[in-house]
Amino acid sequence: MKLKERVLGIVEGLKREYPQAECSLNYEEPYQLLFATRLSAQCTDARVNIVTKELYGRFKTLQEIAECDISELERIVHPCGVYRMKARDIRACANVLLEKHGGRVPDTMEELTALPGVGRKTANLILGDVYGKPAVVADTHCIRISNMLGLCDSKDPKKVEMRLRDIVPPDEQNMLCHRFVWHGRAVCNARSPKCDSCVINKFCKTYQKENHS
Ligand code: SF4
Repeated sequence: MKLKERVLGIVEGLKREYPQAECSLNYEEPYQLLFATRLSAQCTDARVNIVTKELYGRFKTLQEIAECDISELERIVHPCGVYRMKARDIRACANVLLEKHGGRVPDTMEELTALPGVGRKTANLILGDVYGKPAVVADTHCIRISNMLGLCDSKDPKKVEMRLRDIVPPDEQNMLCHRFVWHGRAVCNARSPKCDSCVINKFCKTYQKENHS
């Protein structure tokens, strides 16, 4: 089977299986997603959602976050781990957004990754979810499943991102990454993937190798 055919099979198969897939971080304003993503490093989305509920309840605007008492911010984000660095990045980022971007979250990779604490993963999430641009969020699920499927052969997030940008149609990239997360949680989990019931097993190199070698 040709690569293009496999990619489309994977895109369509996961689309049918998870039509409603979306980012599991809660937010109302773009900056809230930006900070929630910063908090999600080494933390579950479920815990981040609990913390951001308190965070955005306490500080209701970007201005309030920019001017907040750092020890109070640290206390609130403490459950997410690495709390000092996360609090420092969030407050610094709020200041840069206000000073350089008029309080708006920018919509280019270059500007986003220039913000304190913002890497390509976060930038891609904003580009895809907030601005509807082609974007590949190379998180742990995306990297693992792309490798299992044989779409790429690297654990390096940037290499995986670039590879998927090359082979996945641009308007499918963002949602495919969300669906990888859902698929990773429901079926293709790291410890025991449920390959026999996986809806994309016929496009999966790992499955094909194990069952037809
Ligand atoms: S067939 Fe197995 S390894 Fe391949 S994507 Fe499905 S669950 Fe993952």
